[in-house]
Amino acid sequence: MIKSNLHTHSYYDDGKDSIDEMVQTAAQKGFSVLGFSGHAYNPIDDGSMTPEKTAAYRQDVLRCQKNPPAGMEIFLGIEEDSLSPVNPDDYDYVIGSVHFLVKDGHASPIDYSKERFEQMLAQEWNNDIYAMSEAYYQAIKAQAKNDRMQIVGHIDLIAKYNDDEKYFRFEDPKILAMVRDAVKDLVKAGKIFEMNTGAISRGYRSQAYPSDPILNLIYQNDGKLLINTDCHNREDLDLGMSECIERARHAGFTDLYTLTKDGFVPVSIDEFRG
Ligand SMILES: [Zn+2]
Ligand SMILES: [Zn+2]
Repeated sequence: MIKSNLHTHSYYDDGKDSIDEMVQTAAQKGFSVLGFSGHAYNPIDDGSMTPEKTAAYRQDVLRCQKNPPAGMEIFLGIEEDSLSPVNPDDYDYVIGSVHFLVKDGHASPIDYSKERFEQMLAQEWNNDIYAMSEAYYQAIKAQAKNDRMQIVGHIDLIAKYNDDEKYFRFEDPKILAMVRDAVKDLVKAGKIFEMNTGAISRGYRSQAYPSDPILNLIYQNDGKLLINTDCHNREDLDLGMSECIERARHAGFTDLYTLTKDGFVPVSIDEFRG
């Protein structure tokens, strides 16, 4: 059986626990694959790792990678923000995420808080959620040309505060057309999409990213899928993973991706457990 999570944060960024604590708890929870993905340095993001912290983070993960618990493989990854490119040679894999939208040369975070989101929507996008979504999904689409990253981070992060469909309906065909346009290019570029339970643990969403209409769309376009929790503490290492496996199965996926020493590979969904 495979228990795999490649999207985790530690106390080197805005997470809570040390690398060793995360590894220990992952071993207790029976993980076979554990990847770290600290927030790459971004001068406008306080939650990201400074260059000094990045160096310490790399050393710490590499030390654990050399001496993992029995039955577990550890990987050194990074979560790159689309505004702050990393050197991919320093990492086993890269998650590419869009956390900021640029408008008139000014970058604003879409996932900082609900208040901030609403402020952006009103002041920068004139309460036009379609215009804002178009800009967001264009930035996601541009990740198809980003050769540094393999995994598309939380593809519908723009829906973080939209659990009650306050800003748009998850089934809105106009929004889904934007997503489809991005998904097609990302699939062609061989990128892997993640299901991500990060917003559940923090109480923003009842369901993991992406929403079912987007999950279906990824499936219909032959997209590759893996399951991550984007956890910021060790208790949440496997939060919501079983539900994700079931949702993926229900959408039609027969394989999920995981990482090995030889790179990303598809494995029968029946081999995975949450
Ligand atoms: Zn993120
Ligand atoms: Zn993350």
